[in-house]
Amino acid sequence: MMSFRRAGLLALALAVPLIALAPLPDFWITQLNTIGLYSLTCLGLVLLTGVGGLTSFGQAAFVGIGAYTTAWFTLNTGISPWLTLFIGLGITAASALLIALITLRMSGHYLPLATIAWGLSLYYLMGNLDALGKYDGLLGIRSLSLFGFDIGTGRGFFVLTWALVLMLAVALLHLLDSRAGRAIRALKGGSQMAESMGINTFRFKVTIFLIAAMYASVSGWLFAHFQRTVNPTAFGLKMGIEYLFMTVIGGVGHVWGALMGSALTKLLDDQLQVLLPRLIGTSGSYEVIVFGMALVLVLKYLPDGLWDFVERRLPRRQRVQDWTHAPALPEKQKPTAGELLLDVQAVRKAFGGLVAVNDISFQIHAGQIVGLIGPNGAGKSTTFNLITGVLSLTQGAVRFRGELISGQPARNIAQTGMARTFQHVKMIPDMTVLENVALGAHARGRKGVLSAMARLDRTEEKSLFKEAQRQLERIGMGEHLHELAGNLAMGPQRLLEIARALCTDPALLLLDEPAAGLRHKEKQALTDVLRQLQREGMSILLVEHDMDLVMEVCDKLVVMEFGTRLMEGTPAEVQQSPAVRAAYLGTEH
Ligand code: ADP
Ligand code: MG
Repeated sequence: MMSFRRAGLLALALAVPLIALAPLPDFWITQLNTIGLYSLTCLGLVLLTGVGGLTSFGQAAFVGIGAYTTAWFTLNTGISPWLTLFIGLGITAASALLIALITLRMSGHYLPLATIAWGLSLYYLMGNLDALGKYDGLLGIRSLSLFGFDIGTGRGFFVLTWALVLMLAVALLHLLDSRAGRAIRALKGGSQMAESMGINTFRFKVTIFLIAAMYASVSGWLFAHFQRTVNPTAFGLKMGIEYLFMTVIGGVGHVWGALMGSALTKLLDDQLQVLLPRLIGTSGSYEVIVFGMALVLVLKYLPDGLWDFVERRLPRRQRVQDWTHAPALPEKQKPTAGELLLDVQAVRKAFGGLVAVNDISFQIHAGQIVGLIGPNGAGKSTTFNLITGVLSLTQGAVRFRGELISGQPARNIAQTGMARTFQHVKMIPDMTVLENVALGAHARGRKGVLSAMARLDRTEEKSLFKEAQRQLERIGMGEHLHELAGNLAMGPQRLLEIARALCTDPALLLLDEPAAGLRHKEKQALTDVLRQLQREGMSILLVEHDMDLVMEVCDKLVVMEFGTRLMEGTPAEVQQSPAVRAAYLGTEH
């Protein structure tokens, strides 16, 4: 049976030719055309800002590049507008790439500020270049035609624009539901978790910046042939802000929010422009004031936009589990039992004057569960982060399976077969458990953004989900596959993280306080999982506060105090050590 969402999409696709044929006044067709043009730019913003968490006020500038490129080339050369679309896309991509490489490493407010600067400078560039007609712009651009039919205005243009809007919206939906899409959805929560799953977060940021810019560029291309004139006003900072505004009102996190926001803004804008001066009695841009207030209200009461309100009332998408026969993902060769796996050699970390980790050394052999314990502030998490590459070493070396890994970025270390969980659970709450866990298998897949958009990634996608399901079932989480991760209790959240780590196909698992915040029963379930993994030959480094758990599952303990190694031994030896007792009694009540 066709899903509800598929049916909705089909209805939309059928609506386009029906509207084009319907005896609607031309005014409404023109309105719909403008809404379509806005929607294209807003779709890009959904990906960039709503999903990826990168705010841009500069999208109008990319619309401008698309528009000016086609205007200039069709006016000054004989090149067909169907080709200038691609020239425009090329120029857009090149400039977006340049901006991305300069600004996307900046954090916090710098990116939005940089996009403002970019929007302003392009506006003045367009307004000052003789070749682009300065502030008057370029006039007399020809309209589009296809096989002799004029599709530059009215109904022909309507069909072209909305076919593009729907196509690019669907491409975006496809992208968000893919290996690359999950990586993109992980960006907003900070890069640490994604990088630990072997994901190059910077590359994905650049990619979504490029895609958003190119969506805007397509809109600009259409705009130029629709208006048949271009001038800088349509591409200035004010428009850049308005695009963001429309997207936020519609629902910046939802693909359909882009369309809803564009439609609402355009329609409301028109009504208010007529209505307000009449009400107030004088003319002026009062609609801007009303919009400002509307935005504040939406942000306060519907921070996820109007579409979110609709989305909550729609049936949730059910994933059809059709991957039982999908090929299994390739696996790395596993170490033989007893082989030296991890060799931590006198690692040191100084934070300014504080030596948080002071020449710590220990080894893990394949099949062992080693516990790293010590009072609060002893340096356990820091040691953990030195091994996984989250922090850089001040001194020392870490070898994994004979290879020097210290100094490498976290995502490379993750790909050598070391997988970790986080002391504070890091997951994507609005993705299902299965999707979250599939993120762990990212580095074992290959399909990128373009295959995802064209839906050419389904075979690999099935393999990824099959693996995610297998790992979840392996640790007793088979009942939670399709739940939203954000709805899980603490115990299952911790297990989700373990399943995600297992999905990377690790030889060594590193768990940072997996029992923290767990209730007794959940702790028992965790103990069972760790025991089972050990029986299956998995090696584990366990940083843990809970002494019962540590004593129960560990083969060997390394005790830290004030950054140094207090002792190393079996759980029984450690329990009997007066020094360890003193350390714990001295710092804990
Ligand atoms: P544990 O995990 O054993 O509780 P940590 O490794 O988190 O201990 O911390 C060890 C010491 O290093 C603490 O004194 C802590 O305050 C300090 N520390 C940890 N991270 C940082 C940091 N990023 N900057 C400065 N000091 C830090
Ligand atoms: Mg800690």
